[in-house]
Amino acid sequence: MLNVMEETYITKIIVLNRWIHREHDSKILAFSPELGKIDLVVRGAQKNTSKLSAHIEPMNLGKVMIVRGRNCDYLGGIDNERNFRNIKTDFDKIRFSSQALKTVEKYTFRSDTNDSYEIFSLLAEFLNFLNDFNKSINDYLLFYAFFKLKFLAIIGFLPEMYKCTKCGRKIIPGMNYFSFASGGVVCINCDNVGSKKLTISDSCVKVIRFSLYNDFVDIQKLNMAEEQKKELIRIVQLLYQYNFK
Ligand SMILES: [Zn+2]
Repeated sequence: MLNVMEETYITKIIVLNRWIHREHDSKILAFSPELGKIDLVVRGAQKNTSKLSAHIEPMNLGKVMIVRGRNCDYLGGIDNERNFRNIKTDFDKIRFSSQALKTVEKYTFRSDTNDSYEIFSLLAEFLNFLNDFNKSINDYLLFYAFFKLKFLAIIGFLPEMYKCTKCGRKIIPGMNYFSFASGGVVCINCDNVGSKKLTISDSCVKVIRFSLYNDFVDIQKLNMAEEQKKELIRIVQLLYQYNFK
């Protein structure tokens, strides 16, 4: 058998999860723009003397050297870029950042690099936003819904918000529906389609359109009524229920 040389790789990661591995090691699940979701063993991370241990907590973002082994990959070193201190000292922020990490963990496949750059960017942007802005718990819930909507769009479920998903005509303000089966808006002329659908307000159509192509800092400038916020959160919840039941 040939002696396979160890290969190293430099990338950025966001740590999604961490476990104790064997006696002295840690195992982390991380997300990289180039490699997607990956497992990494961190040798000696459970020892008190470990320099790496503090940098591999879930949520941390760092530039890493990965040593690709025959059976598993190892973390060779990490240069911590952001540890999101303001999130880690706020229970509400911890709650929604943890849910975002779990969403990425749950709905991605290991080493699938198809959308990994966009997923990494979205997750980093959401964590930066939570870290840098103080909001009410209801607004964190709203922005987590925006995060989930954008994530869904990246992984292949971009909702159609401009044309009726049944007849293809341009959506005009008035009475429209959101169809979960066809993944987008349905006009009033096609509303007798017997699939699961909700009425959708014109303002919610506009907010979804805007949010899909703008970042969180710009989305927060929208002046949304409480009703609108609830409508958006409900549509996103139902989209996940429908697509991942
Ligand atoms: Zn139609």
